[in-house]
Amino acid sequence: MSASGALWRNWARTEAVRPRRVERPGSAGAVQRAVIAAGNAGLRIKAVGAGHSFSGIALSPDVQLDLHEVSGVIRVDRAARQVTVAAGTPLHRLERLFAPYGLALANMGDIDRQSISGAISTGTHGTGSALGGLASQVVALTLVTGDGSLLTVSGTENADLLPAAALGLGALGIIVDVTLQCVPGFLLHAVENTEPLEGVLESYLERSRTADHFEFFWFPHTGSALTRTNTRMPLGAVREPRGRVSRWIDDELLANGAYRGICALGALQPALVPGFNRLAERLSGRREYTDVSTRVFVTNRTVRFREMEYALPLDLVPGALAEVRALIERRGWRISFPIEVRSAAADDLWLSTAAGRETGYIAVHRYYRENHTEYFRAVEEIMRAHGGRPHWGKIHYTDADALRRAYPRFDDFLRVRDKLDPERRFSNPYLERVLGR
Ligand SMILES: Cc1cc2nc3c(=O)[nH]c(=O)nc-3n(C[C@H](O)[C@H](O)[C@H](O)COP(=O)(O)OP(=O)(O)OC[C@H]3O[C@@H](n4cnc5c(N)ncnc54)[C@H](O)[C@@H]3O)c2cc1C
Repeated sequence: MSASGALWRNWARTEAVRPRRVERPGSAGAVQRAVIAAGNAGLRIKAVGAGHSFSGIALSPDVQLDLHEVSGVIRVDRAARQVTVAAGTPLHRLERLFAPYGLALANMGDIDRQSISGAISTGTHGTGSALGGLASQVVALTLVTGDGSLLTVSGTENADLLPAAALGLGALGIIVDVTLQCVPGFLLHAVENTEPLEGVLESYLERSRTADHFEFFWFPHTGSALTRTNTRMPLGAVREPRGRVSRWIDDELLANGAYRGICALGALQPALVPGFNRLAERLSGRREYTDVSTRVFVTNRTVRFREMEYALPLDLVPGALAEVRALIERRGWRISFPIEVRSAAADDLWLSTAAGRETGYIAVHRYYRENHTEYFRAVEEIMRAHGGRPHWGKIHYTDADALRRAYPRFDDFLRVRDKLDPERRFSNPYLERVLGR
C-alpha cells in the first residue's frame, strides 16, 4: 500500500518532511519489492520507526517505509532465551509478547514508544554499568540490502557483520527481523531520593559500578539531585508497586500535567525557572517500590522537549557535569529541564557510543518552545573536550571527520556500508553529515 503528500514530523518537532511516497509493506518480501522498485526509480528509501529520534536520522524525503504492520513474535528459542521479533514491533508490546515465555529485556531506556529496529539502530540505552544498550542484546537480524536481497547476520552467518549491523544507523539496509538475547523476567526494587549534588558527584563512580542501575537527575539552579537506584530481584519476590493513584499523581499530574504548565510559564518568564526548579527539588522526596522491570524502567513522557546526549569515559562524567553547571551559571541561562546522568558497560559494536569503554552519559534537555541551540552547542564543546560521542538519535552538531576520530572502527563500518549499500539507497542528509556520502 502506498500514499504520498502527508507531512511527517518527529516527536520533538525538530524535523519534518513530506516524502514523495509512503509504503506500508506487510512482509519481508514486500520490503524487498519496495527497495527494488525504489532502486529502479532512482529513489532513496528509508524505514521509519516511531519517529522518536530528535536528530534527522529517520528523514526519508523519497520513499518512507512504515513498518507498523511488520510486528510481533516470529520465533522463540526457549532454551537459549532468544526471541525473534518483526522489525516494526514497538518496545511497549514486548512485555506482553515475552510474558508467556517468562522472558524480558535485560535493560531499557526511559520510554517504550520506540520500535525495536529504531531503538537498536540509534544505540538506545538505559542505565547500568554492567549492561550494554539494546543493540548489545541483538544476536541476529535479517536485512534487505541495497540491491533488494535478504541478508542474515548472526553468530553463524555473516558473523563478521554483526558488530556493524546491530547498530547500523539505518545505513546498511532495512531490517526485517531482530533476534534478541533475553533474560528471565525480573522485578526491580527502586529507591528514589533527593540528595546534595556534590555528594552525588563524589559517589557517582562507585554507585554506578556497584548498583544494578544507577542514575540521577540534576535540576539546574538547585544544589540537589534526584537519584534512582534500581536493584534486580527474582520474579517471585514480593511486589510493592506504587498504587494507581500515586502513579497517576507522580507520572501524569506532576511529571506531565503540572510540569507542562511550569515549562510553558518558564519559557515566557525565564526569571521564574530557578524558583520552579527549587520547588521540584523540595517536592521530590524519598520513595521505594518494587515492580515488574518494565514498569520501573519506563516512564510516560508527554511534555515535549529537545535533547542532546553525550557518552563519555565513565570517570570523566563528574568533572564534565561540574563544567556544565559552571557554564549555565556563567551564561545566565534559565534551564527548566533536568540534566540526566546514566552509565553503560563497554561493548564491541563499532558505532556504539559505549564501544570499547566503560561509559557515562550526560543528557541535556530543553522545553520544545525554547531555543536549544546555544545551550546545546556550548555543552557539546565541553563534551568533545572530554572525548564525548553523541547519541545518534539525539541532537548534535558533529560531522564525519570528528566522528572518525571518536570511533576506532569508523572506517570498518564505512566499508560494510560500501558493500551493502554502494548506491546509498538508504542515505539521507543526516547520514551524509555523520558518515559522509
Ligand atoms: C521522550 C523520549 C525519550 C527517549 N528516551 C531515551 C532513552 O532513555 N535512552 C536512549 O538511548 N534514547 C532515548 N530516546 C531516543 C530514542 O530511543 C531513539 O531516538 C530511537 O531511535 C527512537 O526509535 P524510533 O522507533 O522512534 O526510531 P526512528 O526515530 O523512527 O528511527 C531511528 C533510526 O532507525 C532507523 N530504522 C527504523 N526502523 C528501521 C528498520 N526496520 N530498518 C533499518 N533502519 C530502521 C531509521 O531509519 C532511523 O535511522 C528517547 C526519545 C524520546 C522522544
